[in-house]
Amino acid sequence: MSLQLETDVLIIGGGLAGCWAAIAAAQAGADTILADKGYCGTSGVTATAGPNHWWVPPDPEKRAQAVSERNNRALGLADPRWMARIIDTTWRTLPTLADYYQHSITTDGVPHYQSLRGPEYLRALRRYAEAAGVRILDHSPALELLLHADGSVAGARGLRRQVNPPAGQDWTVRAGGVVLATGGCAFLSKLLGSRNNTGDGHLMAAEAGARLSGMEFSTYHTVAERHSTQTRSASYAFADYFDADGRQIDTGPDTDVTLPLARALLAGPVYATLARMPPDLRAILPQIQPAILLPFQRQGIDPFTQRFAITLHGEGTVRGTGGLRLADDDCQTDVPGLYAAGDAATRELIAGAVSGGGAQNSAWALSSGTWSGHAAASTARIQGRRAGEAADAIGGAGIRPRTAGGDGAALTHHLTQGVQAEMLPYDKILFRRAPVLTRSLDTLDALWREARDRLTPGTDVTTRVRAREAAALVACARWTTATALARGESRGLHRREDAPALDATLSHRLLSGGLDRTWVAADAGLAQAAVA
Ligand SMILES: Cc1cc2nc3c(=O)[nH]c(=O)nc-3n(C[C@H](O)[C@H](O)[C@H](O)COP(=O)(O)OP(=O)(O)OC[C@H]3O[C@@H](n4cnc5c(N)ncnc54)[C@H](O)[C@@H]3O)c2cc1C
Repeated sequence: MSLQLETDVLIIGGGLAGCWAAIAAAQAGADTILADKGYCGTSGVTATAGPNHWWVPPDPEKRAQAVSERNNRALGLADPRWMARIIDTTWRTLPTLADYYQHSITTDGVPHYQSLRGPEYLRALRRYAEAAGVRILDHSPALELLLHADGSVAGARGLRRQVNPPAGQDWTVRAGGVVLATGGCAFLSKLLGSRNNTGDGHLMAAEAGARLSGMEFSTYHTVAERHSTQTRSASYAFADYFDADGRQIDTGPDTDVTLPLARALLAGPVYATLARMPPDLRAILPQIQPAILLPFQRQGIDPFTQRFAITLHGEGTVRGTGGLRLADDDCQTDVPGLYAAGDAATRELIAGAVSGGGAQNSAWALSSGTWSGHAAASTARIQGRRAGEAADAIGGAGIRPRTAGGDGAALTHHLTQGVQAEMLPYDKILFRRAPVLTRSLDTLDALWREARDRLTPGTDVTTRVRAREAAALVACARWTTATALARGESRGLHRREDAPALDATLSHRLLSGGLDRTWVAADAGLAQAAVA
């Protein structure tokens, strides 16, 4: 029997953004349900990290300077007003976690709020959400949205993976407002913590008519020991890199060494040592980043004296900036009643063409979560749950094939591998060129037709979830590739080998969307501002 629930606000995704959204909605008085694909409290990319938040005291001069510095790096695509908003919301909201999280204390005796230990942070957020009254459905991926006839969101449908195995249990939640906090899309690159980040929310929203923005800025990469998914990159600030013949690789003056390393990796294996890390830092590393040493210990390598092979893990939109376009200050998407938060939403507003890594992204997840949760609660209060009205489940590819299907599991595997062949090789993603992008788009369009027409989900819970994930991966790959082709210049994270310079006529955001036919268009608002 399926689980049928009704609530004011439904939050889909229980990472950083989803938890903050759920807390805000519940504190605003809304009955709130949160559904996570994994276990809320351990899933999401932050659970493996040590997230630092953008933290600027309420001194007008300091805040103006912080905004101005970041805005100068955003290459014309950010919005200082949104930056100021997240600084303020983060400053006021993060300390409210103190009842659930033991912040370290600075030498001045002040709690150090801004940087937290990821695993404890997520556990604390779960406790905070439960204390606020949020009902949590763990291991309960959402598969599709429900829409009213007027185009507004009515709730979602999904599966409970651990109930009634192996078939699982279907769930339907009718809600007055829905927040998508499903994270970014890392194309199953093996980035630690990102297994669930397959772009499901992007696909669900696009099926409802939402547009995306900034999908070309999806090329952030992190260095890691070659056999490890471990992506704690701070230690690599002290790394030296070598090729197979022991020659040191010149990584240039830039702190971002992604491109020189990718070039070297395309030519052969690359090795690193952390020999330059100062002894005092080495001594405390096991306390501040215990997990970073584990892969070395397992292999009997001393990374401070020995060379070890490295790789680069692609992060897609996780620490890129692309995601669902936001139509207003409340983080509402183009679909009435549907909000987006964290990595599921575009982060161009605060990071522009560069990654917001190192503090902005967590502040964004917290702030966009808080605003969207609050706004979804208001929508539910004003319009009611509308649970008695008719609503349609609108999921297509991976749920309802247009023709009689093929073997769901085999096709899912084929689609996933096909996407990865276009989205993971460094020469296709980091050194983009028009002819290669065009070929990729043709391949991905063909994969989409297969997903749309033939992808049968099967009957057990795993193949149903995987089929939908495969469809979402294909959809995200198409929007990413189409915008990368349309942006015929190099700007921030988006690098074109055939157009290496910045083009002033492209100082606008690029929107994208569409399922059967993908499209890309200039964001008229910012384009006009740039011209004026
Ligand atoms: C290694 C690493 C270190 C980082 N360090 C920093 C830092 O120091 N400072 C900083 O600002 N930023 C940092 N970031 C970025 C920051 O962690 C992210 O921006 C932030 O975690 C985003 O939160 P989120 O909730 O949007 O996504 P996530 O944390 O990825 O959560 C998404 C959640 O959605 C769930 N989900 C997915 N699909 C579905 C579905 N169909 N149904 C239900 N649930 C679903 C997932 O299970 C997951 O729980 C780091 C990122 C990484 C990878």
